[in-house]
Amino acid sequence: MDLTQFEHQYEQLARDVGAFKRAISTKLMYTVGKDPVSARPEDWLHAVSHAVRDHLVERWMKTTRAQYAQDVKRVYYLSMEFLIGRTFTNAVLALELMPVIRQALAELDVDVDKVLDLEPDAALGNGGLGRLAACFLDSMATLGVPGFGYGIRYDYGMFRQQIVDGRQVEVPDYWLTGGNPWEFPRPEVQFRVRFGGHLEQHGDTVRWVGTDDVLAMAYDTIIPGYGTEATNTLRLWSAKATEEMNLRAFNQGNYFGAVETKNHSENVSRVLYPDDSTASGRELRLRQEYFFVSASLQDLLRRYLRTHTGFEALPDKVSVHLNDTHPVLAIPELMRLLVDEHRVPWTHAWQLCQKVFSYTNHTLMHEALETWPVDMLGRVLPRHLRIIFDINAHFLGGVSQRGGGDPDLLRRVSLIDETGERRVRMGYLAVVASHSVNGVSALHSDLMKASIFRDFAQLWPERFNNKTNGVTPRRWLAQANPGLAALLDQRLGRGWRRQLDQLDSLRHALDLQGFLGAVRKVKRQNKERLGRLVLKQLGVDLNPDALFDVQVKRIHEYKRQLLNLLHVVTRYQRILANPDAQWVPRVVVFAGKAASAYRMAKLVIQLTNDIARVINNDPRVGGRLKVVFIPNYSVSLAEVIIPAADLSEQISTAGTEASGTGNMKFALNGALTIGTLDGANVEIREQVGDENIFIFGHTTPEVADIRARGYQPRAIYEADAELRAVLDAIRDGVFSPDDPGRYQPIFDALVNWGDHYLLLADYASYVATQDRVDTLYRNADEWTRRAVLNIAGMGLFSSDRTIAEYAHEIWHTRPVIVPAAAPHAG
Ligand SMILES: *Cc1c(COP(=O)(O)O)cnc(C)c1O
Repeated sequence: MDLTQFEHQYEQLARDVGAFKRAISTKLMYTVGKDPVSARPEDWLHAVSHAVRDHLVERWMKTTRAQYAQDVKRVYYLSMEFLIGRTFTNAVLALELMPVIRQALAELDVDVDKVLDLEPDAALGNGGLGRLAACFLDSMATLGVPGFGYGIRYDYGMFRQQIVDGRQVEVPDYWLTGGNPWEFPRPEVQFRVRFGGHLEQHGDTVRWVGTDDVLAMAYDTIIPGYGTEATNTLRLWSAKATEEMNLRAFNQGNYFGAVETKNHSENVSRVLYPDDSTASGRELRLRQEYFFVSASLQDLLRRYLRTHTGFEALPDKVSVHLNDTHPVLAIPELMRLLVDEHRVPWTHAWQLCQKVFSYTNHTLMHEALETWPVDMLGRVLPRHLRIIFDINAHFLGGVSQRGGGDPDLLRRVSLIDETGERRVRMGYLAVVASHSVNGVSALHSDLMKASIFRDFAQLWPERFNNKTNGVTPRRWLAQANPGLAALLDQRLGRGWRRQLDQLDSLRHALDLQGFLGAVRKVKRQNKERLGRLVLKQLGVDLNPDALFDVQVKRIHEYKRQLLNLLHVVTRYQRILANPDAQWVPRVVVFAGKAASAYRMAKLVIQLTNDIARVINNDPRVGGRLKVVFIPNYSVSLAEVIIPAADLSEQISTAGTEASGTGNMKFALNGALTIGTLDGANVEIREQVGDENIFIFGHTTPEVADIRARGYQPRAIYEADAELRAVLDAIRDGVFSPDDPGRYQPIFDALVNWGDHYLLLADYASYVATQDRVDTLYRNADEWTRRAVLNIAGMGLFSSDRTIAEYAHEIWHTRPVIVPAAAPHAG
């Protein structure tokens, strides 16, 4: 760049900073209504958010206009959860405005980092499934895939986790208290959602009458693409009492009763169920599912009908994607809308359905496969139950024609489970109604076809496919790890943000003078950043030269945080037995929430904290082992923890983790994985090379084999003295001297009650592999070399790649073409 160019850019920056300062001040006064002299940091956050948002709005309108002009096919991504995290930094990065904003705020005398840290997370999700939806929105916008995310605007997102006396305490997350500057309320976009009532048959037509209704009102959030003018929309629905509900209630003359009735009907969007593995909350949860799919389908049909007549073109213009089974009621709802409201003949409506819907399965675990009691469904949604019965009759008729009427097959594939209380199998309904059913890693997709959907995979093999998950490199590298991002920019240029496979060329940098040292320095700075957070929150001092060994994710038995703890205690006992040996210092980091009703998971959290207290305060350990449980795992916390990890724990029992996305984020940030051959770990190994990942434990077929032969965990306990000492210490109250029997249930679950997730079977292999980790860590250059090879191998795991596959192979959509921006106006 010559000097005049440089001067030109500098002048441009100065002009932009001036313009932004004016915009922020204007927003502060006229939108937030605050005088700069009395404005709190929160007020500045709102002011600057509104100023940034204005820039997105222009792109948003342009994109929407282009979508209509090009009559593009739109993808509607239906998900009960969107775990977005914070928006501000993400938006600023998308607009490439960070230097301008920093400078503008600094000149206004506002502490940028303090202000940014005030933004609450939009925690409208539990864990991986919700975060995947958020990464997908980012990638759809970035690739110009015209789409909407549809979900629920929960008043209370995921609970905030506090740790009190070592135990998890759930505190409501009222994330909207301070107002949400990113959302646009749309009071003019409201749909009536009906519940209850009964059916009346009039000749061929069915009428659904006598319902209790609630209104769904839209709130829109702009989803910016990166390196493109294209944006998308996340439309979330909030419940409002209907006018007649208000009138009826208030006319009874009981003012407080009326308010209660109104509140009752608005409860449907009140709270996110803090559980992603069981259908809890039951009826209210069912109402939530129907509430948002009904509003979404009414909305998308209205949008379609604005520019089309008749439904012939629907599958060419609309794809509806079902993120797990939670939105599966969209299927009978689309049938109802087409058949009852738009008078489309049943057979035609069903053909349309099968072309419009696609479905992603996220779990094979039996307890997480959603079913609804026929009784409840009949009470809450009688019309939909009738439609499901009709679909089932139709479907079973077809199967018995093809299969010669094998009664056992019919029983197995029926949409209604007739064993015990009759229940509707939502996963089966999704498979029957969709043209595409995908799993989220190669292993999971294979297992899905061999287990829960086996019969269906034989009936319709062409319907099943795999789409390995990915994560957005914008949030999980550019935003979370600015140090590494800057280093990559130096080596590779900035293109990796949109073309993650460019990371592959990092291999050529391995032998460059100083490169490994530079990578190591960034990692150390990230560890110091996490260390400051831990010191502030927990009062524990971490040594940034120690190996940071990290397991952060939902707390669940199948994820086996307890196996990690068995290793921690093993190491503790080894240090006590052999205090003079040269130990590689370790910091073991845990974070994660347990479902509020999940007792065993909560006990694991308590055990983690008890073990941490004992080890961290044992002078004999001398800082060679530290254990921390960082409360309230969230997207924002993940952005600080993950870049600081040396070692990523991905240790689920083989065959249980559908994919994982945490595993990808860690490797992308230069952590080495210790893991089982489960979920996407299998593909991570293929990409980074067997020598650059620590694989241990039994494989999926071996797990099945062990179980089939009659697994005997007690025999392992008795045969392994080191393991026995660990389990005995936990059982005997070494970590809970105030309550020595506290962990008897954990001991029993492992030794006496069958150890369902095979911790003991994998223990020896895990501990031996942890020893290999130590050995490698002693060789700093070799460790860093392998860390770099992990980063270099992560190109495949961009959610851009995943979304490109969905777009080409499932949705058949083409990108919207947004006219290029006018040259930057001063
Ligand atoms: C990525 C992510 C997850 C998923 O982690 P897994 O290790 O794949 O289970 C859960 N929660 C948050 C906040 C995340 O960012």
